[in-house]
Amino acid sequence: MNFESPQTATESKRVLIVYAHPEPASLNGALKDTMREHLLARGHEVEVSDLYAQNWKASVDGDDFPLRDAAAKLVVPADSRRAFSSDSLTDDVRREQDKLRWADAVILQFPLWWFSMPAILKGWVDRVYAYGFAYGVGEHSDRRWGDRYGEGRMAGKRAMLSVTAGGWEEHYGPRGINGPIDDMLFPINHGVLHYPGFEVMPSFVVYRTDRMGEDQFAGVRERLIQRLDGLWTDAPIAFRQQNAGDYEVPSMTLRPGLEPAGTQGFALHVAAGRD
Ligand code: FAD
Repeated sequence: MNFESPQTATESKRVLIVYAHPEPASLNGALKDTMREHLLARGHEVEVSDLYAQNWKASVDGDDFPLRDAAAKLVVPADSRRAFSSDSLTDDVRREQDKLRWADAVILQFPLWWFSMPAILKGWVDRVYAYGFAYGVGEHSDRRWGDRYGEGRMAGKRAMLSVTAGGWEEHYGPRGINGPIDDMLFPINHGVLHYPGFEVMPSFVVYRTDRMGEDQFAGVRERLIQRLDGLWTDAPIAFRQQNAGDYEVPSMTLRPGLEPAGTQGFALHVAAGRD
């Protein structure tokens, strides 16, 4: 008789957790540890990029391109393209790119700081997402704006944000004073993750964190574990694909009539009824 649960029968996957918090004993640290332990227990492989522990360099500058002519003007996209195509980016960046190539899924774990990600994590994106790796991929012409928004090097991989916020859930609701959380995270979910090709899962958000006790943590942990178990089977956010016919070329504007009447802003780029 086979007592194996459906979860343990799941195919082993490779998960990269990019973690941005300076304190190992923090709530973010506990969520990162929960993810790592649970995914390993389910038979998956896990890599953690602990950006503070790695002393990650957060700013892009000429040192990122060791072979460049130091007397020439620094033009970041052009220098990035040359360094990526000649495999001469710095070792720390190349290691992170290798982890991204390796991963089937990527989870970004961070506290919401000033309505966005901590600077060290933004600096990971700025430096690791080189020209030719995460942007400038595919044909760029009058007919096509490259392989992006659903296509690109991360196509076939999944990604999810795991975010902690001090504010209340209502403050991030449809009429909440901070603005809706899906709008706040749109530049990361759509811009940073969907752009290079990831399928993006709905974000896991923990609210009102600053007064959270251990008892509440147990509930948060359970919710997170459910989301991890659904990482391969839950539906991703139905972001529209750039090259699937929804957008006019070359203006890259959404064709009229695809959205429910009255839809505006970020919501235009999520296919109605598919989220
Ligand atoms: P911690 O301070 O480590 O812990 C939070 C609470 O969780 C503590 O009470 C801790 O005891 C408890 N806890 C329960 N169980 C555990 C466990 N197992 N392990 C560890 N701790 C546990 N909030 C917003 O909503 N919007 C913003 O724009 C925003 N901007 C900010 C900007 C800055 C610069 C800073 C410092 C904070 C900002 N905040 C904002 C608040 C911020 O999002 C929270 O402070 C953060 O999410 C809390 O996460 P943490 O890991 O730092 O928590």
